[in-house]
Amino acid sequence: MSPAQICFSCGKELVPIHISTPNQCDDAVMFTAYGNYGSTVFDPMNGNISLLINVCDECIVRNHNRIAVLKEIKPLPTFEHIPWNFDKE
Ligand SMILES: [Zn+2]
Repeated sequence: MSPAQICFSCGKELVPIHISTPNQCDDAVMFTAYGNYGSTVFDPMNGNISLLINVCDECIVRNHNRIAVLKEIKPLPTFEHIPWNFDKE
């Protein structure tokens, strides 16, 4: 059993949704983190390793007021105006 198959919050054993994805479990959310400036325990600064945990859905619901949602806001696209090369396009 992978350590990620145990709820980080309550310790409940979790069941992988498929043998090919052992860290993605039923009734749980998988989280990964690449560390961050400020952590004194995990900030490898190389981008190729991360921490992985699962939190069961019960713990997510029970602690929903401790969770923030990050919504990616994409900037408007910018365009470059170039002449149309009619013979080639
Ligand atoms: Zn839990």
